[in-house]
Amino acid sequence: MIEKTSSPALLEGTIVPLLQELIRNRCVNDGTAESGGEIRSARTLQKFFSSYGIESEILESAPGRASIIARLPGGEPGQPSLGYLNHLDVVPANDEDWTANPYGGEVRGGYVWGRGALDMLSTTATQAVAFAELARSKARLPGDLVFVAAADEEASGRLGARWLVENHWDKVKSDYIVTELGGFFSTGGEGGTGIAVTVGEKGIAWTKLKARGVAGHGSLPWHSENAAATIGRAVARLSDYAPRLVFSREYEAMVAGSFLPRGLKAALLSSSRCDRALEKLRRSDEGAAKFFHAASRLTVSPNVVAVGSKINIVPDRGTAELDIRILPGQTVEYVISEIKRTLGDLGRDIQIEIIEYFPSASSPVDTPLYEATSEIVGAVHPLARPVPFFIGGVTDGRFFRKMGTVVYGFMLANDDLTLTEYASLVHGKDERVSVKTIELSYHYFSRLPEIFFDKVRLEQ
Ligand SMILES: [Zn+2]
Repeated sequence: MIEKTSSPALLEGTIVPLLQELIRNRCVNDGTAESGGEIRSARTLQKFFSSYGIESEILESAPGRASIIARLPGGEPGQPSLGYLNHLDVVPANDEDWTANPYGGEVRGGYVWGRGALDMLSTTATQAVAFAELARSKARLPGDLVFVAAADEEASGRLGARWLVENHWDKVKSDYIVTELGGFFSTGGEGGTGIAVTVGEKGIAWTKLKARGVAGHGSLPWHSENAAATIGRAVARLSDYAPRLVFSREYEAMVAGSFLPRGLKAALLSSSRCDRALEKLRRSDEGAAKFFHAASRLTVSPNVVAVGSKINIVPDRGTAELDIRILPGQTVEYVISEIKRTLGDLGRDIQIEIIEYFPSASSPVDTPLYEATSEIVGAVHPLARPVPFFIGGVTDGRFFRKMGTVVYGFMLANDDLTLTEYASLVHGKDERVSVKTIELSYHYFSRLPEIFFDKVRLEQ
């Protein structure tokens, strides 16, 4: 096998400057169609690919909402394709909270600072450079290598990955994909540390509650039907919602694969002891505890409440928006029945509307992509091993999983990137990525295709 290590010149001269430019392009997605401006970063990447003589295509779903794709054709028919999927947009940053310019891309103390440094422009940059260097090496892979940098991941993907899958499937089609949300270190303990490879995601069932009351004067509240009171009680009841624990195949694999002490693992898989075990784990590894909690149940988070207009008017309507995350097999009907059960008598005055639904899905672990990833991880971090993670959040990967693609969330990170650290920096203040992690991430994406296709060949 050919050893390809990133030279310092490539790291400092190409990868880091590309990441800095992507950060400086400031493709901030605030959820509106006018935001994002991903066309800036799509052009940056197109120029970068051109400098390697690689053709790429920019696809715009709406003015300025651009994604960019490139494909290295494989040499043998019937071979699977491998895709690198990333996104160009970032969430807004509150400048005053930061100790660096969020859009400066400054290199300081061994880190590149800026919004998107971790989520996920460093991966965008390392995937792009790995793709380009492979193209330049002229080493023909058996199957296609696909590069997709999508717009609009930070909203709903409607102007990015979802749109690409629905309208340009022939161009983005991949049998296997590596995208974001993994690579952090977690669940250390007995003899090693786990590194998360995200293999599945919960689904979403975003719900709006609409409460009805009767308008009246605030000075005469006796026997009034106040929508504020109704919506307040509903939110309180839903905050206390006690879901049934569900130990899915995905959850069991995540617990089994971790390096937690045996007793703790057993408790995490026992309905009567799980919650106490989570409290215990929370004291040593809060990030992991939150992940296990989310992976073992439906969660309800009432995040937006709107009611009332004036201090002396009894409000006649109010709404609450619930971020509900569902497990495999949990349907719209199930979610509605759980809300109704929790609301009890309040249900009379409340209408339930599911405003967005996407089912949970996961990818199998016994694949050449998982094997190839494990091999690279093992060579770099001998005391760690990949743990299949089932996450509460969603990524663009879900649109591809729906089409039958095997999707993992992974990047190779330095061992100081713990789950807790990752969770605090992503969408948080002072987001940054270590140059060491960038180097390892590049190492992974440049080695992966060759090792992946070797594993495919072994299976054939
Ligand atoms: Zn992201």
